[in-house]
Amino acid sequence: MTILDLNLAEMTDFLVNEVGLKSFKARMVFEWIHQKAILDYDLMTSLHQTERDLLKEKAPFPQWTVTEHPTKDSNKLTATTDDGNSIEFVILKSKSAPTLCVSSQVGCPLKCAFCETGTLGITRNLTAGEIVYQVLLAEKKTGGIGNIVLMGMGEPLLNLDNVLKAIAILHEPTGLNVSPRRITLSTAGIVPGIEKLLTADSGINLAISLNAPTDELRSELMPINKTYRIDTLIRAAKAFQEKSGRRVTVEYVLLKDVNDTPVLIRSLIALLRRTGFHINLIPFNPTSSGYKKPTLDHIEWVKAQLEAAHLNVTIRNSRGVSTQAACGMLASKK
Ligand code: SAH
Repeated sequence: MTILDLNLAEMTDFLVNEVGLKSFKARMVFEWIHQKAILDYDLMTSLHQTERDLLKEKAPFPQWTVTEHPTKDSNKLTATTDDGNSIEFVILKSKSAPTLCVSSQVGCPLKCAFCETGTLGITRNLTAGEIVYQVLLAEKKTGGIGNIVLMGMGEPLLNLDNVLKAIAILHEPTGLNVSPRRITLSTAGIVPGIEKLLTADSGINLAISLNAPTDELRSELMPINKTYRIDTLIRAAKAFQEKSGRRVTVEYVLLKDVNDTPVLIRSLIALLRRTGFHINLIPFNPTSSGYKKPTLDHIEWVKAQLEAAHLNVTIRNSRGVSTQAACGMLASKK
């Protein structure tokens, strides 16, 4: 736990009662951190030197070492956390403000067959402060990020409490004031987590990684499907969409000759018809798994089939493949 784990009320309480600051000064500290992304007490010019020294002693910031791996359209940041773990997060450049892809766990327990992160296994959950820290570091580097996607390392619905806390801190009006509408959480299909997210009424968007239209194939690709089958997942996603009023996105990683055959694409259409979900086709990014990406022509063919069935579909072209920064490639081993 660090000071980055605290929301405004908690930080005020802590800084007033444990550090001895006046409450208006505590508010200033929150603003320096969360509005201006200043993570160095010596740069907080509205504080006295004695207050800065006290803060340095009583409320130190995390001290990650961060290495950058920039390409023309992305920047992967590899960080060593204070306890020596390695995580990655990615700034995705775009014409407007860049999108930030953040991690929620060190590694991932789900072992999806096509995903490199799954080969790591899980070490631990990230704290709310560590999730917020990724955003603040990226904010400082870019001068202002746009959307935030919880699509980095880990399964965010297996760390939902910390994820919700981070979202609430980022949403503070006296802080970064990130609207939940700019945040999307992607899940491999933890159905009770989707229900909990809906109950929490966080206002964020949901994406589900479907990746196969039949239980047989999906269980082979994503072992979590043996616990939460496709029909329960689709039902939970529909409920989320209806009650939240936010359109759900379905992610479908295209694996050549595995989940992109005419028969399976027909099943996919039957499954998603009239759901109103948006479909994101993600051409497979190379990992050690041995799967292949379909040809561009075939990817376009899949898209055309879905469009002909009046489904709402886009192809998500991955940025950062050369630096292992793209979907499913985050697996820095330290
Ligand atoms: N655990 C969550 C959050 C990670 S999001 C989830 O699974 O949704 C990562 C996205 O990248 C998921 O949609 C996943 O299906 C996709 N993905 C994983 N490996 C990939 C690969 N090699 N190429 C393209 N997409 C991949």
